[in-house]
Amino acid sequence: MGPEVVDVVVVGLGVGGEEVAGRLAEAGLDVVGVERRLVGGECPYWGCIPSKMMIRAANALAEARRVDGLAGTAQVRPDWAPVAKRIREEATDTWDDRVAVERFVGRGGRFVRGSGRLDGPGRVRVGDQVFQARHGIVLGTGTRPSVPPVDGLADTPYWTNREAVEVEELPASLLVLGGGAIGLELAQVFARFGVRVTVVEALDRVLAVEEPEASEVAAAALRADGVEIHAGVTAERVAHDGRQFTLHAGGTAYAAERLLVVTGRRAYLDELGLETVGVRADQRYLPVDDRLHVADGIWAVGDVTGEGAFTHVAMYQAGIVVADVLDHVRRSAGKPDPSGTANMMGGAMGAATLSEHGSSGGVPRADYRALPRVTFTDPEVGAVGLTERQARERGINVQVGFASLGSSTRGWIHRADGFIKLVADADHGALVGATSVGPAGGEVLSALAVAVHAAVPLAQLRHMIYAYPTFHRAISEALRDLA
Ligand SMILES: Cc1cc2nc3c(=O)[nH]c(=O)nc-3n(C[C@H](O)[C@H](O)[C@H](O)COP(=O)(O)OP(=O)(O)OC[C@H]3O[C@@H](n4cnc5c(N)ncnc54)[C@H](O)[C@@H]3O)c2cc1C
Repeated sequence: MGPEVVDVVVVGLGVGGEEVAGRLAEAGLDVVGVERRLVGGECPYWGCIPSKMMIRAANALAEARRVDGLAGTAQVRPDWAPVAKRIREEATDTWDDRVAVERFVGRGGRFVRGSGRLDGPGRVRVGDQVFQARHGIVLGTGTRPSVPPVDGLADTPYWTNREAVEVEELPASLLVLGGGAIGLELAQVFARFGVRVTVVEALDRVLAVEEPEASEVAAAALRADGVEIHAGVTAERVAHDGRQFTLHAGGTAYAAERLLVVTGRRAYLDELGLETVGVRADQRYLPVDDRLHVADGIWAVGDVTGEGAFTHVAMYQAGIVVADVLDHVRRSAGKPDPSGTANMMGGAMGAATLSEHGSSGGVPRADYRALPRVTFTDPEVGAVGLTERQARERGINVQVGFASLGSSTRGWIHRADGFIKLVADADHGALVGATSVGPAGGEVLSALAVAVHAAVPLAQLRHMIYAYPTFHRAISEALRDLA
C-alpha cells in the first residue's frame, strides 16, 4: 500500500506539537498527530504542572512554619499523601492521556499512537503506516533527561524527574545530582517534607546560568531548609548496594536512599530519520531559522530546537509555526496575502511579537531577546534577557542597577530575601536583562519583561509610578542605583 496523503504531519504531541497540530486542524487542514507516549508531553505529566503542585504544597508548609514569631505558634506535620493524590488525580489522570487525545480529535485532528520517523522528503513512517505530507512536517519531539557518563551510574536504579514526580512515599534521604532549576526546585520540596537532601553540582555555583547574586540567595534559602549544597564538585562514581546509593564526588562519599539525576536535558535526534531528508542527526538540537524551519517543508517546535526548554517557548514557537504553515498553504494555493496570517494566530503569540523585529509577510519571526525564565524555589528567581556577564561578553556598554528586597518597605515587612538587578545598555538607554528574586519574583518579572521586550527607555521607566509598598517597587530603587 502506498503512503496516505494528508496535509500536515506533526511528530510528537507535547506542549508545542499539540498546539500546532490542534490549531492547524481547527484551521481546516487534514492533520495527523503522532505521539508515542502521552499527548501533552513532559509539562503536564512529569514537568511544570506536577512539580508546581509539589512546590505549592511545600510552600504551604514553609509558610505555616513562619507563623512562629509572626503570628503565634503553629504545628506542622507534613504528609506527602495529598500531594501524590493531587498529582495522580488532578494533574495526570494517573498518567493517562485519554482526555488530551479526545481534545485533539475534538479539534479536528487525527491521532496516531506510535513513534514517528522521517522516511524521505515529505514522508513520515509510524510502524507500518506511511504518511505523505502535502504541506509540511512539524517535529515537536522534545527532550529527555541527559544522564552524565558517571562510572557505575547506568547500572543503578537512579531517579529522573519522572520517578521524582510519581513518588508515592518519600525516601528518608535524597542525593540530587545537578543544581539547576529543576534540581533546586525538587530539592527544596523534598527537604520541606522532611527528606534529608544533598545537592551536588559540578559547576562552581548552583543555578549557574543566572546571576551570581541569584545563586547565592537560592543556595542560602535551600540551606535554611536543611539542604546540603556542594558546588564545584564533580561526580566520579556511583554505587547502589540494594539499599542505598553512594556517590563519590570530589574525594567525598555521599550516601542516600535515593539518587535524583537532573543534569540537563537533551534531544535525541538519531531516532528521527533525519538522514532521509539530508539533515544531520549528530547535533545537540535541531537548528532552526527564525520561522522555525529545519529544511524545506520541515518545521520544529519546542525543546528540540534548543532555544529554551520552557513551555512558554514551545507555545510561542507554535504560534509562529502555525502562521508560517498557513502562509505556505495559502501561497501554494496561489492565493493573495489576505488581511495577514497573523490574524489567524490567536492566543499563543499575541500582538507584541509583530514588532519591527518580528514580522515578514504577516508571519512573525522568532525573537528571544526578552526570553523570561522562572525558577520556582522560595524565594523565586525570575530572569529575562541577558545576565550582566552575557551582556559584557556581547560587548554591550553595560550599566548595572541593584536593589535588595530587604531594604524595600514590603521586603522589610515581609522579612523577605531577594533583590532586583537590572542590566542596561547605556548606549541605547534601555534594559537588556533583569533579574527579580523574591517571594513573588516570577510575578514581579512581568514588568521587567515588558521593559526588555519593548526596550522601554530608561527615562520612561524612571518616570513611572510604582505602587507602595509592593515588591515590584524595588524596581524603582534599582533604577536609581543604575543612574
Ligand atoms: C521537572 C520539570 C519541570 C519543568 N517546569 C517548567 C516550568 O515550570 N515552566 C516551563 O516553562 N517549563 C518547565 N519545564 C519544561 C517543559 O516541560 C518543556 O519545556 C516542555 O514540555 C517542552 O515541550 P515540547 O513540546 O518541546 O516537548 P515535550 O513536552 O517533551 O513533548 C515531546 C513529545 O514528543 C514525543 N515524542 C518524542 N519522539 C517521538 C517520536 N519519534 N514519535 C512520536 N512521539 C515522539 C514524546 O513522547 C513527548 O510526548 C519543566 C520540565 C521538567 C522536566
